[in-house]
Amino acid sequence: MKLHWKVLAWMLAGVAVGVLLQFLFEATPTSGVSVRSLDGAAEVTGLTGPGAASDLDRGDRIVAIVIDRGRPNERRLPVADAAAFEDAVAAQSLGDVIWLEIQGRSEPVSLALAMHPNSPRARAIAPFRFAARIFLALLKMLIVPLVFTSIVNGVAGIGNLATLRRLGYKAFAYYIATSLLAILIGQLLVNLIRPGDGAALGLTPIAAGGVAPDVSFIGVLERMVPENVFGALTDNSAMLSIIFFALLFGFFVTRTPDPHGARVKELFESLFEVVMRLAEAVLKLIPFGVFALLVDIVATTGLAVFQPLLLYMLTVTVALGIHAGVTLCLALRLLGGISPWRWVRAMSPALITAFSTSSSSMTLPVTLETVEKHGRVSNEVGSFTLPLGATINMDGTALYEIVGVIFLAQYYASAGGFELTMTNQLLVIFMALLASIGAAGIPSAGLVMMLTILSALGLPLEGAALLLAVDRPLDMMRTTVNVWSDTVAAAVIAVSEGEDGPLAMG
Ligand code: ASP
Repeated sequence: MKLHWKVLAWMLAGVAVGVLLQFLFEATPTSGVSVRSLDGAAEVTGLTGPGAASDLDRGDRIVAIVIDRGRPNERRLPVADAAAFEDAVAAQSLGDVIWLEIQGRSEPVSLALAMHPNSPRARAIAPFRFAARIFLALLKMLIVPLVFTSIVNGVAGIGNLATLRRLGYKAFAYYIATSLLAILIGQLLVNLIRPGDGAALGLTPIAAGGVAPDVSFIGVLERMVPENVFGALTDNSAMLSIIFFALLFGFFVTRTPDPHGARVKELFESLFEVVMRLAEAVLKLIPFGVFALLVDIVATTGLAVFQPLLLYMLTVTVALGIHAGVTLCLALRLLGGISPWRWVRAMSPALITAFSTSSSSMTLPVTLETVEKHGRVSNEVGSFTLPLGATINMDGTALYEIVGVIFLAQYYASAGGFELTMTNQLLVIFMALLASIGAAGIPSAGLVMMLTILSALGLPLEGAALLLAVDRPLDMMRTTVNVWSDTVAAAVIAVSEGEDGPLAMG
């Protein structure tokens, strides 16, 4: 069976097994908060699990739990002791968001319920999770060696500054143009569908505050230059710094007189070959890795959480679909003369890996291998554009930022206290672009970046926390679009450089 069908089959099998586990095994929810009875309330004694809210402290006294806050069926359950708290939590479902009323605080604290590690389903998932983690670790293991050797080798191979500069311009023009198009599609749809108007989110109307991460454009540029190369090389999230150093190193290999220059060049050619063989071996595991990952994700995610956010999820999905299926396919066809259908099929191992891992960086080994081997893009173009693309070209993320932010803005506007002006929308377009450039290629990075935009608009950050409950499926989709756009960039640029490999692939 061809690799893409095989991967697809295993992916569907993973979903099926995940759903089966959902039905077969009970999953007791846990709040990740341990409590003891004290003075007619439940006092927090520790924050243990993954569901634990960061804004709870030891010693806080929980006096009540609010379920379905802000919805028509809102209920308030008084908590007189620890047992009442545990019972109320156990009666909810996995992934539900509950609100804890704390003595002496005016605002309740929201909390997403996670799976109890001792519940039967958690035990059933454990072997799959183990396999999934090993698979992810193998992919992560390859990121730094692959990015470094591939870029040095590519740049040293190109050799001349004019070509490098040309490739750079083309790549950046493509990145900015497609990200902006993605943002515009997102903006159009979110303004047409208006999922945020009157959404039953149960958020407190306007109480701005909280701390957003400092992710400005200048900050990203500053982080690009590593103070210590080895420090950067030991950090999977320092991809920009690694790319920066590798570009310089590769370039200066060509500026070093022989025999030294030639020796280093040969060395890197060989190193890259070895790392690629390793990547190929890991590639063989993709079907099983994808299977294990999907079993884990599907069996862990409670479906109930999707309900209040369905329209929002639909908006993101349709917008991503239009961008991937229309804009990028047109780019492929018009700029590269390549058949989108054949390109999708050739790229499917990378796309499915992106979907299962929610990470462009972790997918990079597969993307490089797939684009060069199945897509027949030269190593010069692939090894230059793909690592760059995985780090800064994120069409799906850019689109997601704008839909998410405007969705929340619509919600707050309809709840009163906020006005979504044209200036605000323009600000969001600009910030969504920057956020997509600055976001790391790791799971949920886009959601973290959203905090910056929310705080720039003066919106409460609490909204993003609620979107976290449904972030995984959306992250899977936007990462696939991110990687799809990277592969399209590589193909289009390769063709514009006179290569005919991508045209002949199949
Ligand atoms: N997970 C995405 C990626 O790696 C980034 C994001 O969270 O939007 O491409």
